[in-house]
Amino acid sequence: MSPPVFRFAPSPNGYLHLGHALSALLNAEQAARAGGRLLLRIEDIDAVRCKPDYEQAIYEDLAWLGIAWERPVRRQSEHLDDYRAALGRLADQGLVYPSFESRAEIAAQAAGRDPDGAPLYAGAAKSLPEAERERRIAAGEPYALRLDMAAALARTGPLTWNEDGGTIAANPAAWGDVVLARKDVATSYHLSVVADDALQGITHVVRGRDLYESTAVHRLLQALLGLPAPVYRHHRLLLDADGRKLSKSTQATGLRELRAGGRTPADIRALIGLD
Ligand code: GLU
Repeated sequence: MSPPVFRFAPSPNGYLHLGHALSALLNAEQAARAGGRLLLRIEDIDAVRCKPDYEQAIYEDLAWLGIAWERPVRRQSEHLDDYRAALGRLADQGLVYPSFESRAEIAAQAAGRDPDGAPLYAGAAKSLPEAERERRIAAGEPYALRLDMAAALARTGPLTWNEDGGTIAANPAAWGDVVLARKDVATSYHLSVVADDALQGITHVVRGRDLYESTAVHRLLQALLGLPAPVYRHHRLLLDADGRKLSKSTQATGLRELRAGGRTPADIRALIGLD
């Protein structure tokens, strides 16, 4: 049997903090314990927010923590054709449509909130005639390509995912017609993460609890694209003194700041409750 494959998949849109250290170290430990492999994936599809300096810092900080990963590293920005191909397979099934509303319009028409608290798209553009879609795209209007959630679920039926050996009922409908790509961005987090986990043969996804609800969308896309489903383990989140999730802008928990202040990798492990 081939060994299990784990991955750590940070986005280079800021410096790593203690929460990333927890994720990376859990991946490394679980891979080692299972006799598995550890891959590093740079999730840099957001060309505006991702910076080469942050990517370089990821390599330095992970090496400092004592984590070893396989080369070459997969950088999502170098694989946009793979995501276009996956999008094309969904479009071929009649599951993708363009929407043209601005953020403000989406918020004004919102049909509730998605699990991240963002306004839920009400789906108005789903009924636009094909000729009007073509006219607006040809006119250069910005648009988002969305998954027709109702049609997708009609195709797959109810889905579950494997959460560390337990079975979780997936509820992708809570996300509504999720964005899969935009006029200027060939993919989205959901689409590229699902394509890459399959292309890299990932068997175990170890990541923060903040992505737990997203797993429902990932399972749905896997089912629609005929891709294998990894085992998921969503780990605890580290909170700041005010009880909020750590963010890349919180200097106090940045690995670089902690290192500059004389902390050792062993100190980091103690700070995040490992050992
Ligand atoms: N790139 C995502 C992040 O930095 C993580 C994606 C994942 O682990 O699925 O939050």
